Amino acid sequence: MSDALTDAATQHLTEAERARILAKSALFDPPPPLLADGRCDLVGLSRAELAAELAAIGEAPFRAKQLWHWIYHRGETDFSRMSSIARPLQQRLAQQFVISRPEPVAVQSSQDETRKFLFRFRDGQTAETVYIPDRQKDRGAVCISSQVGCTLSCRFCHTGTQTLVRNLGSAEIVGQFMAARDAYGEWPSPVGETPRLLSTIVLMGMGEPLYNYANVAKAMTIAMDNEGIALSRRRITLSTSGVVPMMDRAGAELGVNLAVSLHAVRDELRDELVPLNRKYPIAELIAACRRYPGASNARRITFEYVMLKSINDSAEDARELVRLIAGLPAKVNLIPFNPWPGAPFETSTPAAIDRFARIVMDAGFASPVRSPRGRDILAACGQLRTQSRKEQASA
Ligand code: SAH
Ligand code: SF4
Repeated sequence: MSDALTDAATQHLTEAERARILAKSALFDPPPPLLADGRCDLVGLSRAELAAELAAIGEAPFRAKQLWHWIYHRGETDFSRMSSIARPLQQRLAQQFVISRPEPVAVQSSQDETRKFLFRFRDGQTAETVYIPDRQKDRGAVCISSQVGCTLSCRFCHTGTQTLVRNLGSAEIVGQFMAARDAYGEWPSPVGETPRLLSTIVLMGMGEPLYNYANVAKAMTIAMDNEGIALSRRRITLSTSGVVPMMDRAGAELGVNLAVSLHAVRDELRDELVPLNRKYPIAELIAACRRYPGASNARRITFEYVMLKSINDSAEDARELVRLIAGLPAKVNLIPFNPWPGAPFETSTPAAIDRFARIVMDAGFASPVRSPRGRDILAACGQLRTQSRKEQASA
């Protein structure tokens, strides 16, 4: 077969694979954004959907722009405080619609000011959101969940011990950011490059965002909208365990920063640690990274590498990592394994982490060791949800 034919065949396979992934994902769709009394949640609708909801009650398209501003720029949840809207319409809106937030059912603050929220959604399901401030720079990252549980079962991940319950909806995804903002009172949305306390979104909470692509994409499109939350795509990072066909799609449609959970540099080991590797092995994953748009220095791909004692932390592993990512604009986040009860691993020693980091750095890649934030508050992702469910069960 000629190269062009091979490319066409691969393209076709990838399209079919994407369709299969999206169809499977739809089986785990969240409940519709409706309250028991029939009111519809306006959060999480695209601009076009918002306009359609308003058209259905006889309102002109400019109302959608007005409401968008109140919901996403001002952070308002109460129609009666929307001063640019006349009282009769405020009342009509309140009869038909709500502007919801997930409810914080547990909040834990760490000594290092990391704050972890367990949010409950309308159907009672819960997911975790973590705010990680960067005090020196007056900014911080909000780590958002994309699913309740996860279908993948990475061996070192606590969320991987929970089965997938369902996908989160777009309202629930962007709502985690908005509710975290409520907690810090950062409304209206800061405009432009002014300092923001909640300055970045990282899709690194519970779940695999690329197995819930439609809802994640919708939520991030809302977060990036200039007349609302207005976070630039450079301030959003999507972390994936390597759903190769959807990486291309996310790159083309969203263009957000990409983080890839690599964790091992040989297929035999990665097959064990990240079982998705059996489907999309390392060579295919790295090739997808090379295709990812924006390969300039400012748009580096982040490789996440959890440091597991005597499993993946040898000097040889570090040298193989450098060989794999050669030529890619990349940085490597070394994450000391965050232990949880019953986990079959230990954290690498500081000396092993140091040796690994030095080899990666000497090859020209930044290799920060991600400081384990919130150690005192069950910060390994998925742990707060498990604890809360245990407490409920014993109650
Ligand atoms: N499902 C996506 C995003 C959520 S996990 C993914 O896998 O990329 C976010 C990051 O935390 C991933 O790199 C994951 O491998 C890492 N992680 C999960 N459990 C961990 C633990 N116990 N200690 C350290 N890192 C962990
Ligand atoms: Fe799922 Fe990511 Fe955890 Fe793997 S590391 S089980 S993909 S949440």
